Amino acid sequence: MSTENDDITNLQQVALRHYWQPTLPWNTLAESGPRIATAGEGVMIKVNGEWGYDAMAGLVVTNIGHGRTEVVDAVRDQLATLHYASTFHFGSPSVIRLAEKVASLTPGDLNRVQFSSGGAEAVETALKIAYQYHANRGEPGRTKFIARQDSYHGISRGALSVTTSSYGDRETFEPILPDVPRWAPQPFYYGREDRGESLDDFTRRCAQAIEDIIVAEGPETVAAVIAEPVSFSAGIAIPGDAYWPMLRAICDRHGVLLIADEVITGFGRTGKWFAMEHWGVVPDMMTLAKGITSGYFPVGACVARDHVFEAFKGGPEVTYKHGFTYGGHPAGGAAGLANIDILERESLVQNSETMGQYLLERLEGLTGHPTVVEARGIGLMTALELVSEKNARTPLSVLPDAIPTLDEAMHARGVFTRSGDKLFIAPPLTVTEADVDGIINGVDASLTEMEAKLGLA
Ligand code: PLP
Repeated sequence: MSTENDDITNLQQVALRHYWQPTLPWNTLAESGPRIATAGEGVMIKVNGEWGYDAMAGLVVTNIGHGRTEVVDAVRDQLATLHYASTFHFGSPSVIRLAEKVASLTPGDLNRVQFSSGGAEAVETALKIAYQYHANRGEPGRTKFIARQDSYHGISRGALSVTTSSYGDRETFEPILPDVPRWAPQPFYYGREDRGESLDDFTRRCAQAIEDIIVAEGPETVAAVIAEPVSFSAGIAIPGDAYWPMLRAICDRHGVLLIADEVITGFGRTGKWFAMEHWGVVPDMMTLAKGITSGYFPVGACVARDHVFEAFKGGPEVTYKHGFTYGGHPAGGAAGLANIDILERESLVQNSETMGQYLLERLEGLTGHPTVVEARGIGLMTALELVSEKNARTPLSVLPDAIPTLDEAMHARGVFTRSGDKLFIAPPLTVTEADVDGIINGVDASLTEMEAKLGLA
């Protein structure tokens, strides 16, 4: 009789033979064996047969947590009634209702929702809308995009063309969209206070750099600025309060569209439904995915303001000829509606704010570690900045064994997250104080173990 562990060993062997798992180096996989996830419940996930905290909510996806049978039932019922209808020819009830719901939640007149299967496709949709919006309005020369250093918008080629985060490895794939994006600084204040520049001055300088680029390129050549309200990939880069209002004013001044990529921050992650609400700014388009269904079905969305949609009203010559076979899948509509229902009914956006504050306090308590120089966060999107030497702020990864040792220690203690120079903690929004304590205790002990092994104590 095979035991669960036998099955895992067997699955690992088969995976090493046939499963091309992206992003993880082959040597690491071959040495330690791929980790096999087999079940999820609430904020917990079972990996290699052991339960532990899903401390990064998958890839910051599972906002309502694992094992929510209401969503499973809604998806199953939908599949049984109408499992698919051509998304180019029909709307279906769940999809239309989800569009209505998303429009009611997103700020201002962000009223037009176009669905896809994930975040990168939502970004592609937004970038192409920007091109055609200007062309339809008689400005076909507006083809450039302004993006920021260290931002992440996805790995399909258009999305990668506005991504510089190391998670995307854009250099390997150059030229992507040649000569299209222009890079602006990321408003990531970490380490800046040492150089005597206030957060407000730094923020304004970063925003002003965007206007300088627009002017230098010629506003008549610029289609849009794309940015995450709070960049996760840059390390939870929380801009100062002036940033987003300045970007809004700059884009308005130059007729440039403003795209807020809320793929990771949307649906309560930062303690508000959408992170842009922290600054009261309405972008021209918003891209969404992840928390829209909490991963129960792959769905992304691009939401456009009324004035953007106006440019596409008319005959075939202005119609947006774009669309994915699975953009607007009925089961995705059902998953999104059931997911949002849970977020509302259980006040999970509020819980994200409350538990986020508690989590940040507990993380700040870890800054006594010789390797922890800063804790930062907004809602349930938090990170520790890890260093090998505090005064010089030398990244921990200069010590090649440090991150793998920490990762192993956390895995052994049942805390699953993504470690690196930034240790991210972003659990499901259902997290309780006891869960936060469990995660923090695991991280604390793992840091101590890693520091002792590397002689950093
Ligand atoms: N945009 C942002 C801000 C993201 O964080 C991500 C993924 O992490 C994406 C876009 C790409 O989404 P996907 O992986 O669903 O294509």
